[in-house]
Amino acid sequence: MFPHDTFADVVAANRGFADRFVGSQLTGSAKRGLAVVTCMDSRISPLALLGMEIGDVKILRNAGARVTDDVLRTLVLGAYLLGVRRVLVMPHTDCRMAFQDEATIHAEIEREHGVDTRSLKFRTVDDQRAALAADVTSIRAFEYLPRDLIVGGAIYDVQTGVLEPVDC
Ligand SMILES: [Zn+2]
Repeated sequence: MFPHDTFADVVAANRGFADRFVGSQLTGSAKRGLAVVTCMDSRISPLALLGMEIGDVKILRNAGARVTDDVLRTLVLGAYLLGVRRVLVMPHTDCRMAFQDEATIHAEIEREHGVDTRSLKFRTVDDQRAALAADVTSIRAFEYLPRDLIVGGAIYDVQTGVLEPVDC
């Protein structure tokens, strides 16, 4: 059963959205040929900060904007089937994954919630720029991706809104 009270706000908001919804000619392909790998941080609005609109870009999010097996798998589909020609890996300032280490996060969850999460790998980073370069390299090196896929890195500043390209 759907827990109505918990999701009542979003379901109600959707009624308004659907009433104003105008169908479009958009397909599932990324119209601007872009895929962005970014963090789940709720201060990041990828479309707005990149000047993109619905239909333009594939957005892949996880904690820390890390390039995982699932990100690589998804990029393969994006590149061959959904119009992706360029990939921007975009971590951000003030990211918890970059200022706490793996052991500290496991310990906090254990202490606060009594759950031992140590078999999970959260992929925290010691050096955000080094991790970004490594993640960009792992996309470039992934054997299943097209050789002409363009891959870049940039760090988004959640305080100023500025996107800083990083040489990777
Ligand atoms: Zn983050």
